[in-house]
Amino acid sequence: MSEFENNGSAKGLPIKISGVTKVYETSDGPLQALEEFSLDIKAGEFLSIVGPSGCGKSTLLMLISGLLKSSTGEIRIADQLVEKPYTDIGFVFQQDFLMDWRSVIENVLLPIEIKKLGPVEKYRDRAMELLEMAGLAGFENRYPYELSGGMRQRVSICRALITRPPLLLMDEPFGALDSLTREQMTADLVKIWQKNCNTVLFITHNIYEAVFLADRVLVMSKRPGRVLYTKELDDLKRPRDLSIQDTPLFQKHATDIRHTFVKEGILK
Ligand code: ADP
Repeated sequence: MSEFENNGSAKGLPIKISGVTKVYETSDGPLQALEEFSLDIKAGEFLSIVGPSGCGKSTLLMLISGLLKSSTGEIRIADQLVEKPYTDIGFVFQQDFLMDWRSVIENVLLPIEIKKLGPVEKYRDRAMELLEMAGLAGFENRYPYELSGGMRQRVSICRALITRPPLLLMDEPFGALDSLTREQMTADLVKIWQKNCNTVLFITHNIYEAVFLADRVLVMSKRPGRVLYTKELDDLKRPRDLSIQDTPLFQKHATDIRHTFVKEGILK
């Protein structure tokens, strides 16, 4: 059985980031993106990451995925040192990167072909199940250009989940959506995650979105990025629906995070 065929029992993996520094060589000289970054992420944890633009959030995800190498320090996923691109991963970006010449279901099934996981037909039921979960039942034979931005991004999330990756990296996935669609997507993502139980790292600029989704919010400093603090949200009971945002507890968490940015001079 392939590592991807875990029959619905996908479990997240723990990540240990120890003393990671990343320096890019640029035409203007070295640029330090991350500094002495250390963090333990639990298996199955939903971690939101907030921080000012350019503080190294995307760099962090690229390092975890093994697509970039750190300058110092190490990253371990389930105790395994990340030394090369880590394949058992789902990545969702702000841009959906759908292929307009493939139908919705063919887009969702693309990783099966790329990773040569066997006959695509075997995964069709899983693809349909994901599309249904994402509210896209009936759209499987449509083409991406026939869909709205929110629907396209849902397809890209289904595509990221088709292999049941234990680790899902999301880099501002809702950044290009209008605010109402964004709010609905956030609510739907929580439901999808609860069914999949994978470890999720979710970058956002939106403090409310970060709190609504996460078990814990990581607040990063200005560049070079380091951990300013992390905020546990265990007291925001699950399942959560959007109305939780109106509660004093939710507001308090969001305000605490905003105050950190004010204290650091990131928000004025
Ligand atoms: P964020 O995701 O928080 O906006 P990034 O991780 O994209 O931040 O970038 C952190 C810093 O590193 C920025 O100053 C950015 O310009 C720089 N940077 C990112 N990628 C590269 C690269 N490939 N080469 C040089 N500098 C880079």
